[in-house]
Amino acid sequence: MKRLGSLLITIIASGWMGAVPALASGQPMGVVTSVIPVAYIVGEVGGERVEVDPLIPPGASPHTFEPVPSDLRKVSRARLFVVVGGGFDAWSDKLRGAASHALETLALMEVSGLKPLEGEDHHHGEEHGEEKAAARENEDHGEHKAAARKEEHHGHEQEHHGHEQEHHGHEQEHHGHEHAVRGGSEKEGEEEHEALDPHFWLDPIRVRDSVVPVVVEHLIAADPEGKGYYRRRGDDFRNRLTALDEQIRRELDKAKSRKYIAFHDAWTYFGERYDLEKVAVVQEFAGEEPTPGEVANLVSSARAARVEAILVEPQLSPRVAQTIAGEFGGETVLVDPLGDPGDPARSTYERLMLYNARAFGRALQGKQN
Ligand SMILES: [Zn+2]
Repeated sequence: MKRLGSLLITIIASGWMGAVPALASGQPMGVVTSVIPVAYIVGEVGGERVEVDPLIPPGASPHTFEPVPSDLRKVSRARLFVVVGGGFDAWSDKLRGAASHALETLALMEVSGLKPLEGEDHHHGEEHGEEKAAARENEDHGEHKAAARKEEHHGHEQEHHGHEQEHHGHEQEHHGHEHAVRGGSEKEGEEEHEALDPHFWLDPIRVRDSVVPVVVEHLIAADPEGKGYYRRRGDDFRNRLTALDEQIRRELDKAKSRKYIAFHDAWTYFGERYDLEKVAVVQEFAGEEPTPGEVANLVSSARAARVEAILVEPQLSPRVAQTIAGEFGGETVLVDPLGDPGDPARSTYERLMLYNARAFGRALQGKQN
């Protein structure tokens, strides 16, 4: 964050500030997001009325991301900032604070009905290596979690849809915004990040039932003339998400196993939705290489669970995963929690999720293709 601080001072000193975005007729409304998949979702609802700009570029990990001056420029052109929230993209507070105008923010983890999952209770730093290994060896813990996941799964279909929920979401967001302004210190943000798993967008049903309705309401609030347009597009996208969910199920039904090893712990929501069981993750903290002891544990976990592939990701170096897979005679299969607008196979939310469902299907078959 220090780096951003000094860059901001440079920008301010060079006299750049002051462009307040006006919504000229015929011009799309500017929206920024932190991660690409959230931009995909906003774009599905906003269509031609919005111009959505994700700040974290393709191939970058949001876990290690730091904003640069051009990000502040993007934010200052926008009317709405849609973030993951829960401390995951706490850097957005600083950008918003430095922007030349008051910017409406929607923090999706704070939306009513989203039901964020607990994250691993992890602390950044080296001294926790033993703790991590001990936690992984504790089989009981893992089974317990799997059982809890199954239970929650049953409750999901009863989740409500519709406008009542949208209103709740909206109020909740205002609350979240105040909270962020009041207590936006980096420390607090990081603590929240440890507590909750941010990767909710990898569950299409959460996106359908909690995220899309609240995005519709926020776009309407910022651009009331688009009300009918946003509602229609929101409804259409939600219907397609129902179809997507069924397609993902069909892809995964072909798999012979439900057990996976992830590169970083991004797939808990996806796994809960589709009854997949996480055996282990290579990087307990995204961007941190495992210790030799952890590598040994991973190899023996993979053998014990008869896992035949490790899921790797474009944002993090696959080298260590390839070594581990080599040790137990497995392969690596690429999945992508974030997407890339430049790759047609991952350039929309639905394409990205199907790409991942197919990749999981291959990994759970123990085959590359
Ligand atoms: Zn992640």
